[in-house]
Amino acid sequence: MQCPCGLELTFAQCCQPLITATKLANSPEQLMRSRYSAYATNNAEYIYLTYASSSRLEQSIADIEQWAIQTKWLKLVVHSASEFQTSSDNNDSAQVMFSAFYQHLGKIWQMQENSNFIIEDSVWRYVDGDVSESKVLKKPKRNEACFCLSNKKFKQCCANAL
Ligand SMILES: [Zn+2]
Ligand SMILES: [Zn+2]
Repeated sequence: MQCPCGLELTFAQCCQPLITATKLANSPEQLMRSRYSAYATNNAEYIYLTYASSSRLEQSIADIEQWAIQTKWLKLVVHSASEFQTSSDNNDSAQVMFSAFYQHLGKIWQMQENSNFIIEDSVWRYVDGDVSESKVLKKPKRNEACFCLSNKKFKQCCANAL
């Protein structure tokens, strides 16, 4: 199975080792991708555990699970990611800008978010995200361009996942 996060790797080569805790994310982008793949494979516990401790208070595994189950994840597009910089202060943080395309209650959505990550207990964790766009997309005709920025025809792209 190809990794849900969209890299040209299998799930076993890419996000699965992070989700099963056999490997740590070495960049905020990698953590972000693995969280997306965890949503796509309904692994609510991983999503919960990769929140920064201050953000976990507002989360519940049951709520995350509910959202993941009701949602069909179609595509992740990472627009930009700040590089990991080792800094001498105790304030390592980074941002990742991405769009997630998904189907929820029969509608296709695009959500664009700028996510904030910090290093906590020596690992990258997700703090929160500023959603800059969240909109319902029109379902294309089969020969029209897909909505997910892939430059492919809809029938050769997300049509297969719906
Ligand atoms: Zn992946
Ligand atoms: Zn597509």
